[in-house]
Amino acid sequence: MKKNDLLLAAAVILAAAAVFAFQFFRQSSGRQFVEVAVDGEVFGTYDLGADQTIDIGGTNCLVIEDGAARMEWADCPDQVCVRHRAVSRDGESIICLPNQVVVSVDSTEENELDGVAQ
Ligand SMILES: [Zn+2]
Repeated sequence: MKKNDLLLAAAVILAAAAVFAFQFFRQSSGRQFVEVAVDGEVFGTYDLGADQTIDIGGTNCLVIEDGAARMEWADCPDQVCVRHRAVSRDGESIICLPNQVVVSVDSTEENELDGVAQ
């Protein structure tokens, strides 16, 4: 009985480890992008894995650093977007309402799904 419990526990741990490893592998292999939209139109798509500074129409300045994107500078009066924490995960976004700028994180897998849906 005790031996079976141990085996079961080992199996559960092994399964959990496998799932964790799979997710980790998927995350590290899947490329993530930052999509920038201005006034509802796509301004550009940028690789989250490549450090860069993006000037968004002179009103906002986005910085991609260490796999995360943050609003470095903006000329909007509320500065909500600048104070927003850096985004790096699927579906996260930074929105600058006054300038109608939307920065959102997207993975390649999601893009493929979108393509199928259309
Ligand atoms: Zn703003």
